[in-house]
Amino acid sequence: MFLFAAKVLPLYSYSVSARAVAQTLSRFPLTPYPLRCISHSRFRANNPVIAMSFARLYHSTIDLLFPLTCGGCGCRLALDEDQVCAECLLKLPLEINRSWQHNRRIAEWSDHDGVVGVGAFTRYTHDAISAHIIHSLKYYRRTALGQWMGRLAAQQLRASGLFDGVDAIVPLPLAPRRHRRRGFNQSVLIAQGMAAELGLPVLTGLLRRTGGFESQTRFTYHQRLENMKGAFALADGVDPIAMSGRHFLLVDDVITTGATMLSAITALEQIPAARFTAFGWAWVNTA
Ligand SMILES: [Zn+2]
Repeated sequence: MFLFAAKVLPLYSYSVSARAVAQTLSRFPLTPYPLRCISHSRFRANNPVIAMSFARLYHSTIDLLFPLTCGGCGCRLALDEDQVCAECLLKLPLEINRSWQHNRRIAEWSDHDGVVGVGAFTRYTHDAISAHIIHSLKYYRRTALGQWMGRLAAQQLRASGLFDGVDAIVPLPLAPRRHRRRGFNQSVLIAQGMAAELGLPVLTGLLRRTGGFESQTRFTYHQRLENMKGAFALADGVDPIAMSGRHFLLVDDVITTGATMLSAITALEQIPAARFTAFGWAWVNTA
């Protein structure tokens, strides 16, 4: 009970609106309105130390009023930390030194010729920091955290070659009811962060969700495959011929068995000569 309170209450302790205000304000790290006034005056030009003091005062005040918490452990973030504290960053079980062309998923999907790479940024276990971060994103509506996750993954994996040759990013659509209830799709946020880093377009209108609406948490691999069969289709009005030959980076928050990803790939295989790289911000137990 105490552990629950220690972990969860700090995340609850600030209202959604306060957090939204803080996140909005934090997008203007050094140019709040008063400083912008100063920046146009000879006052600032002649007094950089005073301007810096104003900036520090501004940040300290914002932090005091709306302190942002770590998406991993719930602790209060230091002024120079963004979304996740340094300690949690160090504990992230990274998957960035892998061969993306030789892993279990590639072997399982060998009859899908268009798949050229499958990868993830971190490993997912229920007690890992990666799981806490995804939980904060999905259930505490930390949308800025989602974009941060995408940016970080793209920065860290850019040199690995996993994203080489990709033309566009396709976040996997949620079931419409779940999307309405949550108010956002976490995979879209992660995709937006990655797109900003990689300079690629995000295609949210390419796929639509047509099935697989049941929760899969208790399903075996084969039950998941069955449940997700036909769960995606090309969206109305998409011309597969016009998209032919493109290389799509499919993005999901977590790849568990891979059944959801495989279903999305199957739908996109209507596009002639399409290639696919499947990416999960985290994935479960792959060898
Ligand atoms: Zn932390």
